[in-house]
Amino acid sequence: MLSKLRHLLCLVVLLLPAPAVADRDQQPHILVISVDTLRADRMGSYGYSRKTSPHIDDLLVRGARFADARTVEPLTAPALASMLTSLPPHEHGSTRNGLRVRPELPSLPKVLRRHGYETGAFVGSWTLREKLWAMADHFDHFEEVLNKARWLGMVKREATAEDLNEAALDWFSEQIEGGPSRPVFLWVHYVEPHAPYVLQRDFMNQIGASPDDNTYSDSNKYDSEIAYVDFQISKLLKAVGDQAPKEDTLVVFVSDHGESLGEHGYWGHGRHLYEPTLHIPMGITWPGHVEPRVVEAPALIIDLAPTLVGLLGIEVPDFFQGMDWSKVFVGAAREPHERVTLYQAHRGSVGAKEDQTRVREKGLLEVARLEDGKKEILRVTNGRRRVFDLVSDPAEMESLVLEQTEVSADLQIWLDRVMAAVILADDLPPPSLSDEDMEALRALGYLE
Ligand SMILES: [Zn+2]
Repeated sequence: MLSKLRHLLCLVVLLLPAPAVADRDQQPHILVISVDTLRADRMGSYGYSRKTSPHIDDLLVRGARFADARTVEPLTAPALASMLTSLPPHEHGSTRNGLRVRPELPSLPKVLRRHGYETGAFVGSWTLREKLWAMADHFDHFEEVLNKARWLGMVKREATAEDLNEAALDWFSEQIEGGPSRPVFLWVHYVEPHAPYVLQRDFMNQIGASPDDNTYSDSNKYDSEIAYVDFQISKLLKAVGDQAPKEDTLVVFVSDHGESLGEHGYWGHGRHLYEPTLHIPMGITWPGHVEPRVVEAPALIIDLAPTLVGLLGIEVPDFFQGMDWSKVFVGAAREPHERVTLYQAHRGSVGAKEDQTRVREKGLLEVARLEDGKKEILRVTNGRRRVFDLVSDPAEMESLVLEQTEVSADLQIWLDRVMAAVILADDLPPPSLSDEDMEALRALGYLE
C-alpha cells in the first residue's frame, strides 16, 4: 500500500508545471554509455592484465570512477530500468526480462525532459524492446536498433556496436545542428559482450591472445568482444567530442551487470548473486566539474540518476532511492563506507502466456544484503543461506554459516518487501511475448 501511495505522489510531482527550459550555456549534454554483461574485473581500470578496454579506461581515469559499484539485479531489463528510475526491480515492476515496468513511473529522462533536455535512447538488446519493457515513453526518442545480423546468423536482430553508433550519432547530430539548442541526453546501450560470445579476430593481438590459436576459449572470446566494443565506444566519444566541447559534455560509463565465467560452476548471469555478476564498472566524467578520483565506498547502479541530477544543480526528487554522490564530489559529504546495499535475482525471462502474479512469484531466486564487507545470500527456492566475507574471501568460496541456519532479521525484512511487491502486482501490464520474442530470448540464454 505504501508503495502504491508513493507512486501516486510521484505522479503528482510529475504533473507540476515544468520549470523554464534550460539554458544551453548552463547545462551540459549528457551521454550515458552502457555495455551489457561487462564484469568489472575484465577491464584494465579494474585491475585486469589484458588490454581489453584502453579507451574506456582513459575515459574513467579523467573522472570519478566507482571501484566498488554493483548492479541491483544481474539481469538486463531489471537492471537498466533501475538505472533509469533509481528504484529496485520489485518497485518498478520489471523483475524479469519480458515483464514491463509499471506505467507512469518517474525517471531520470523524465526529470531531465522537464528541465529542458532533449532525450534519446538507442538500445541494441532484444530484452529492451518497447513491447517487452515499456520504457519508450520516458524518452523523446526511443530507438530499438535490431536490424542487422549478429552472431553469424544465429540471431538476426541484435545490433552491433557499429549499428548503434550510426543510429545514435545521426540523431545526436540532428539535435545539435545549427548551434545552441536544447541540451541533449543520449543513452546508448551496447550488446557486446553478451553471450553467445563472438570471436573478434581483429582484437586478439591487442588482448594478447594468439590469432593462430584455433582453440579459443569462451573467456578469450569474451575478452575480444570487450576490446571490440571499447574500440566502437572510442569512435562514439570522438564523434560526440567533435561536435560538442568536452567540458560541455558529461559522460557516464556503466554496465548493467557482470558475467559468471565458470565461477561456482556457472556460466551466465541472472540466477545467482555472486560478485562476478554483481560487480560492475561505473564512472562519471565531466572535465572541469568532476575532479578525477576513485570512489572506494559501495555504490549502486541506482545512484546514477540522483547523482546526475545533483551534478546539474537540480533538486534530487524524493522518488529516487539511490544515493546522490554529487555532494561527495564537491567535498560536501564523505564517502559512506558503512552503507548497506540490497540485491535480488530472478529467473531470466517469462514465457509466452503465463499468469501475471505466478511469473513474479515463481521467478524470485535469491535475495542478498551486503554490509561492511559481509554478504548474506538467501536462496529463496531452497532456504540455503550463506554469508561471505568479501575482504578475506573475495571469491566467495567459504560460507561463514551453516546453510540451513535462520536468515538474519535484516535480510528477512528485505525478502518480505520484495515478496510484498509481487502480491501488489495486479495493476502491472501482463507479459505479451510472441514466438519471435521467445526465440530471441532463448538464443540469449534466458529461457530453459
Ligand atoms: Zn544485460
